[in-house]
Amino acid sequence: MEQVKIVEFFESVLGKDRVVTEVTILQEYATDITGLRMVQKHFGWEPKELATCILKIHTKEEAIKVMEFINKEKIVSIPRTGGSGVCLGLETPEHSVVIDLSEMNEIIEINEENLTVTAQSGVPLQVLEETLNKKGYTTGHFPQSLPMAQMGGLVATRSIGQFSTLYGGIEDLLVGIEGILPSGELTKIKNNPRKSTGPDLRHIWLGSEGAFGVITEVTVKIFKLATERVMQAFAIDDFSKGLSIIKEIVQAGWKPAVARLHDKTEAAESYGPFVKENEGIMLFLSEGPKGFANLEGKAVEEVALKYGARPLGSKPLEIWLVHRNDICDHLDMYAKQGAVADTCEISAMWSDIGKIYDEVIERVKAEVSHIVAVTGHSSHSYMQGTNIYFMFGAMCAPTIEAAQKTYDQLFGIIIETTLKYNGSIGHHHGVGRYRTKWMKEELGSAYPMLTKLKHAFDPNGIMNQGVLIPQD
Ligand SMILES: Cc1cc2nc3c(=O)[nH]c(=O)nc-3n(C[C@H](O)[C@H](O)[C@H](O)COP(=O)(O)OP(=O)(O)OC[C@H]3O[C@@H](n4cnc5c(N)ncnc54)[C@H](O)[C@@H]3O)c2cc1C
Repeated sequence: MEQVKIVEFFESVLGKDRVVTEVTILQEYATDITGLRMVQKHFGWEPKELATCILKIHTKEEAIKVMEFINKEKIVSIPRTGGSGVCLGLETPEHSVVIDLSEMNEIIEINEENLTVTAQSGVPLQVLEETLNKKGYTTGHFPQSLPMAQMGGLVATRSIGQFSTLYGGIEDLLVGIEGILPSGELTKIKNNPRKSTGPDLRHIWLGSEGAFGVITEVTVKIFKLATERVMQAFAIDDFSKGLSIIKEIVQAGWKPAVARLHDKTEAAESYGPFVKENEGIMLFLSEGPKGFANLEGKAVEEVALKYGARPLGSKPLEIWLVHRNDICDHLDMYAKQGAVADTCEISAMWSDIGKIYDEVIERVKAEVSHIVAVTGHSSHSYMQGTNIYFMFGAMCAPTIEAAQKTYDQLFGIIIETTLKYNGSIGHHHGVGRYRTKWMKEELGSAYPMLTKLKHAFDPNGIMNQGVLIPQD
């Protein structure tokens, strides 16, 4: 069908003002906030391909009509909410349409009996959190992108927040969900505390990255605001000792909402006045009902001191609480200086995570010319293992191609090393288009389960083509 006719159809469903065709806006919507694109834009990168239009959806009835049409006409479509993705998951091929759900932004119900909140896909997490706080509740979900991310995108990328040890990732918070398949079928998974009625279908949507359909509504848990908080920091002379401290704390059954270990480079950069040369820093925050935080805080302190960690009081936590979401400014600053900078978060079992950290830092320093910095921290821990959030910055020739080469080399080292130790190539940013090349190795013999799921839900292959699974 001709592009003009396609636009006309959408205008008949949504009205002219909600079908956006302005080139400058299409350009803005042509990518996400991946560090690679930030520096490439600085070197003159412009999207080669633009969507035909952006559809500003307001109701599920509209979304159903749109889905039926794109499926019939086989139009590649990119669902989108906050636009804060960081894996090239929002890039728009020519003749595609963006299904923008950010204006479906109603908080439908705060249920104080069941402790849940139901919200449309486009509700910004920050708005939801502020609304809940006024009533004495919290989502417990604080990704660094809190000011940008929206509920649909958080579920679609399997996001995690900084207080995850206590509250869990979005997969632990999701109670029920509604979405529309490419066929136009509206599917609703009702709210229950737990069930054993076959596979957990919520997990089809969790991490789906727009590849199976659009999420329209989610119900997540809420928590009563904590009445007490204990914050404490420690300096530690060895990264592997820091990992052992966190392992011992979580394996003993404690769940400090924040449990972070920053390596010596990050410690010197962000907590210079507190640490000595070559010391890393550990940040712990316990919260909960009266009495709990103090009890947990004492247990944390006991383990930390046993490993020779040096107590630093609560000040470093106070600084972290103020600056914890500054990452975008840092990446922007690097990009403006012409540096290739980004973050890459992986996870592995306790038996392997230290080896991955050591090997990545050593290899990057040895192999990447003009490296400015490579650092890592553990910020989300479990009884079985933890994540490492690597941050890197390297200079390169001021061209789009040189930036790509340096970026690929840095990411390649991190991912290859992670796979070597059977770790996962993505702890919480998702796959997007950038990490698809490693998905066969990531999933191993389970890979056909993903391709078959994709085919079952999206037989025409129109939903965010090229994410999760490489596009031939
Ligand atoms: C500075 C910064 C810090 C970040 N920190 C964190 C962090 O701490 N933790 C973390 O987990 N992530 C983090 N991220 C990544 C990002 O914020 C998350 O992936 C977030 O969940 C994306 O939500 P969004 O609403 O912006 O989604 P978008 O960017 O709009 O979309 C992301 C993906 O989800 C799909 N999608 C979006 N909405 C829907 C929908 N309604 N139905 C179906 N598919 C949909 C899109 O097609 C795309 O593939 C960070 C990003 C930035 C830029």
